[in-house]
Amino acid sequence: MIKHFIFALCCLISIASCKTHKNSQLSEHPGSSTKFPLKNTNKKAKNIILMIGDGMGITQISAGMYSNGNSLNLERFLNMGLHKSYSSDNLITDSAAGATAFACGIKTYNGAIGVDPDTNAVYTILEEAEDKGLKSGLIATSTIDHATPASFIAHNKARKNYEEIALDFLKTDCEIFIGGGQKSFERREMDDRNLTNELREKGYKVVSFVDQEIDEIDMEGVEKLMYYTADGSPLPVSQGRDYLQPAANLAINHLEKSNENGFFLMIEGSQIDWGGHANDANWIITEMIEFDRTIGAVLDFAEKDQNTLVIVTADHETGGFAIQKDSKMDSLVTAFTSDYHTGDLIPVFAYGPGSEKFRGIYENTSIYNKMREAFGWVDKK
Ligand code: MG
Ligand code: ZN
Repeated sequence: MIKHFIFALCCLISIASCKTHKNSQLSEHPGSSTKFPLKNTNKKAKNIILMIGDGMGITQISAGMYSNGNSLNLERFLNMGLHKSYSSDNLITDSAAGATAFACGIKTYNGAIGVDPDTNAVYTILEEAEDKGLKSGLIATSTIDHATPASFIAHNKARKNYEEIALDFLKTDCEIFIGGGQKSFERREMDDRNLTNELREKGYKVVSFVDQEIDEIDMEGVEKLMYYTADGSPLPVSQGRDYLQPAANLAINHLEKSNENGFFLMIEGSQIDWGGHANDANWIITEMIEFDRTIGAVLDFAEKDQNTLVIVTADHETGGFAIQKDSKMDSLVTAFTSDYHTGDLIPVFAYGPGSEKFRGIYENTSIYNKMREAFGWVDKK
C-alpha cells in the first residue's frame, strides 16, 4: 500500500516537473504569451476564421496529440466549450445538417444543405458577411461542393446534388474557394454549362492543381480565386496531400489585404471523418496533425492581428474511436465502435475577441449566434 502511494507520488512529481519544463518551452514560442483573458470583453471581432475538423471528437484530438510528440497547437487555446451536435431528425447528425447548424443557426435534417426542415433556403453567415461588405472564403480538403463547405454558400434539399450545388458558387462574390471537385464545374451531366468559364466571367482567377501548386499562384491584382485541388476528391495526407496550411496562408493574406470591413473564412480538415468511416487510425491521425498544423498558422496570424476570432470545432465524431489498454504514447492501440458518426458532445476551442462566449455547453446552432454576436451583428438578419 505504502509502496503504491510512494510510486504514485513519484509519478505525480515527474508529471509536474514535466509540465513545468513544457510550459517553459511553450513560453519561448512566439505569440504564446498573448492569450485573451478569461473575462468578458466588449471588443468586437473584425474577422472570424471558423475551422471545422470533420469527425474530430476528443479521441481524434488525443490520438493526434500523442502521435505528434504529445503536443498540438490546440493546447494554445484557453477558452473551450462543448456543443450538442444532433440534427432535427436524428440524434446522430451528418455533416450537412452539422454544417448548416453553424452556417445558418438552425437544426435541420440530415442531408440538408443550407435549408430548413421544410427545404426552404436559409441565409448563411457567409452570405450575410458578403452582403455586409466583408470578404469571405471557403477551404476544404474534400471537394469544394461537399456537405461542409457547401452548407455555407449553397441551398439544396440533398447533399448529393453536387452539380446543382456547384451552381450556387456563382451566386455570391465569395473571394476564395479552395478544394477539389473540378468535375462538377466542368463536366456536368445535368447541363452542358462550364462553370469554370462562368466564374472567370464573374472576375475569378481559376487555377487547377494540374497547372499550378498553391504556392505558385500569383495573387497580384487578383480579386477572387477558385483553386481546384483535385478533379474529384483530394488525396489523403498519407498519399502526399499537404495543401491545407498553404491554402490557409494564401487565403488569410488575400482576405486581409486592403480589408476595411473584415472577413469570414471557413477552413475544413475534411478527411479526419473519412479516416473514421474507414476505421483507419493512421488516416485519422495524419489528417488530424495536418489540421492542427494549419490551426498553428491561423493562430500565429490571429495573435499578431488581435482582431480575429478563431473557432475550432467539429460537426460530429466519427467511428466511435477509442484509445485502448496497452497503448503507449508512440504506439496506440485503437478500436472503433462504428463506421458512421456518433452522438458525442463535441469540443469547441476559441481565441480572440468574443472567444469567452464559447465557454460552457450549448447547442451546435449557438455557434452561429455567438459568431454573429462577436461580429457585433445585433440586428435581426
Ligand atoms: Mg465535411
Ligand atoms: Zn462522415
